[in-house]
Amino acid sequence: MRSVAIPPNYGYRSVDRELTIDPYEAKIVRKIFDLYMTEDMGATSVAVYLNEEGYLKKEDGGENQRPFTYDFIVNVLDNPIYCGKLIFGRRTNKKGPDGKILKPDPKHAVTAQGVHETILTEEEWNAVQEKRELLSKKNYELDDPDRISLLSGLVKCPMCGSGMVHIKNKRINRNHGGYYKTIHYYACNNSRKSNGMTCTFRHTYNQEKIDGSVFETIGRLTSTPEYKSAVTANLQNQATVEQLEEALKQKRKELRKEELQNRKLGEQLDGLDVLADDYESVYDRILREIDEGYDRIEETERKIRSIMRKLESLRQGVKASENIEKMLKHFTKLYQHMSCQERRDMYRLFIDHIEVLPETRKDGKMLKSISFKFSTAYGEDGLTPEGDTEDDICFTLDCTKQELTKAEAKATYAELKKYILDTYSTKVSSLYIAQIKRKYGIDMGANYNLAADPEKHVPTCPAAKEQIIIDALKHFRMLDPSVEMVPNSEVVANEG
Ligand SMILES: [Zn+2]
Repeated sequence: MRSVAIPPNYGYRSVDRELTIDPYEAKIVRKIFDLYMTEDMGATSVAVYLNEEGYLKKEDGGENQRPFTYDFIVNVLDNPIYCGKLIFGRRTNKKGPDGKILKPDPKHAVTAQGVHETILTEEEWNAVQEKRELLSKKNYELDDPDRISLLSGLVKCPMCGSGMVHIKNKRINRNHGGYYKTIHYYACNNSRKSNGMTCTFRHTYNQEKIDGSVFETIGRLTSTPEYKSAVTANLQNQATVEQLEEALKQKRKELRKEELQNRKLGEQLDGLDVLADDYESVYDRILREIDEGYDRIEETERKIRSIMRKLESLRQGVKASENIEKMLKHFTKLYQHMSCQERRDMYRLFIDHIEVLPETRKDGKMLKSISFKFSTAYGEDGLTPEGDTEDDICFTLDCTKQELTKAEAKATYAELKKYILDTYSTKVSSLYIAQIKRKYGIDMGANYNLAADPEKHVPTCPAAKEQIIIDALKHFRMLDPSVEMVPNSEVVANEG
């Protein structure tokens, strides 16, 4: 018998270094594979199903065992142990762009034929791997691999409260060839088919609008009454210099005590009788106590640094609000130069969650509220929170009382057309709208709604319709009210 330590594998027990089937767990494993293959569920659905049907991971685990998760199901599905193979070097902690643990590179794993009883045939296991491969390919097919949804998870479903995630809509443009611009949305994660549709909320939110609206709202945050009262309250609750000095004295005393205690434990460890019967257990216990002591020391040192920083700010008269305002200014200035990932990370440093209206308001308002959590201090880069999290300044901004943001007001082509039809009883084509938007410098994606054949004659928007489209764009605040119609002969061509 080879004396290789076999990693713990769900469905099996290791007895005298040999794998034997755990009848209860083996049944669960079989169930997972059946749901995935025969019932054609996704890994997340399998997890949801098992939890909802009351399946338990451990037969004797009682009430407080952890529920089935996506990661757990995937780990079971990918483990070749169930068809008789042992694999070493299988585990990995690397995460993909969606935050899920990546499948390890099989090149770095070693497979060996085991001698244990199998739960699946090799054909069955291979079929599962084929399906896994197919689905993972599908998930990674992105239009723009660098594109990351900025506020996924932060925006909450108005019905079930879970984080909303990215979905997209790519349609073929039948009139002009090619594709329409891909539109990205936030949708409830629980209402997706793959997640068992446990939520019935179907409304989706245009990401461009939500993202733009949140950014605009942050830009004018410091002038809102909610912000002002939050920083005033923080100022009033601030400890005095005397209180902080006293707290610092206490913490330093604590630190000395903890250090002394660890030193004593270290001496005890050195003085243990190696030949004593309980040597190993006593050694382990003391070592554990020393580790715990170091954790406490670290925490106390952190606390001391935080008090010292507060004292310094207080003595210099620096208010938390000044730090926040500096950070926000920095953030909005740097925003254009940040990558998607950086923006996403930054938002998570000071936004706790975002609530959206269950239905878009008549004027286009989508945001209900944004809950902020600001640090009282920021590091040298001006962006990284360095205050004690328990001092964080938390408050919720009611966005329904706020002026409509430009991003929310912005109309889609369908909305522009409908407005023009309702107001002027006339129809305009998307091509004309696109022409006018381009003419007045309204940002559009490359090649969006351009005629498929550049040689083909493209009709020019007549002046009367141009005026109507300009009025509609002003109505949706996409054009400044002061903009006036420019005759085509005066437009300087800026092609290429
Ligand atoms: Zn929901």
